[in-house]
Amino acid sequence: MGVVKLVVQVRLLPTPEQATALESTLCAVNEAATWVAALAHHRRVFRNYDLRRHAYGQIKDNYGLAAQAAQHVIKKVTDAYATLHANVHNGNMGRPGSARRERALAKPVVFRPGAAHPFDDRCLSWQMDARTVSIWTTRGRMKNVAFTASADQLQTLAAYRKGESDLLYRDGRWFLIATCDLPEVPVAAPDGFLGVDLGIVNIATTSGGVRHSGKTLNAVRHRHRELRRRLQAKQTTSAKRLLKRRRRKEARFAANTNHTIAKRIVTEAARTGQGIALEDLQGIRDRVRLRKPQRVTLHSWSFHQLGSFIAYKAARAGVALVYVDPAYTSQACSSCGHVDKRNRPGQATFSCTSCGFAEHADVNAARNIASRGVASWAVSHAADDAA
Ligand SMILES: [Zn+2]
Repeated sequence: MGVVKLVVQVRLLPTPEQATALESTLCAVNEAATWVAALAHHRRVFRNYDLRRHAYGQIKDNYGLAAQAAQHVIKKVTDAYATLHANVHNGNMGRPGSARRERALAKPVVFRPGAAHPFDDRCLSWQMDARTVSIWTTRGRMKNVAFTASADQLQTLAAYRKGESDLLYRDGRWFLIATCDLPEVPVAAPDGFLGVDLGIVNIATTSGGVRHSGKTLNAVRHRHRELRRRLQAKQTTSAKRLLKRRRRKEARFAANTNHTIAKRIVTEAARTGQGIALEDLQGIRDRVRLRKPQRVTLHSWSFHQLGSFIAYKAARAGVALVYVDPAYTSQACSSCGHVDKRNRPGQATFSCTSCGFAEHADVNAARNIASRGVASWAVSHAADDAA
């Protein structure tokens, strides 16, 4: 059986004393990593074994790191260069000789003081019942560092956490990002499909008639847009910092909203034994582009995120998932199939000019997506049978 990789992010709640220890630790390992990265760059030494020979002793002596931590620093550096070189090799940094590619290769990799750093089971242990971790720091082992996590996250961590976790500092908060290996759940044969229509007024509407409103999220976005306009005029360092924090806050809010919606949709499908039919995301981007060019990036990004949350949660629940072509789903009648622009007299209303079927416009679109899901499933399984 396969495995689904999942990262669980928990927030640490260190005491002031613990926070100081975490801070000096993360600073030390990242300073050491930056130093090793410069050494690697100048001597053209990128392999773990070779770097260890050149740098190991000095990391321990100059940065006060234990053997285990010194090895993690070296591995982090070799991983960073492996990623960089792979990107260059794959042409992600432009063609040979291009300014961008030259720039990327000209300078050594640098690690921010708060950049994520891996801790393995010897350096970090979890006490799930007490909701604390014990973690190695440059000031000795810190015990009883509290963390917060949802009931869901606690369960997942307790059952499936595996290997290293990353410690990182962002916007004045401490986080641990743990990797979990979850067993794949076999997909149940669906009894029909739950269609999901994505939009701006309603972020998601299901063919079951459930509408997940975008009102709160849109209000937050609007507020932030206004604030952004005012701050951007200022151009001061503090305004820029505030902007950055705002952007992250908005992104967090959007991600939370998407998580909640994805969870409700997958629960609705699982409860009714249905599979889930989602619009093909390329189609969404094209459609939104036609409507509101200035909002394309934001919304297509957010739709992709919602789609990936639904896909992940569906896989976890063994719920079938298909992607369908969304063309004309908003103009077609989900009762008789008649396609006509005039079927949509208003933003929210659908009223078929042929058969008289009337429904909320988004629910009608979701019903079309659902029947395309049924058709697409039938086709792909006919192929299975023939094979
Ligand atoms: Zn009709």
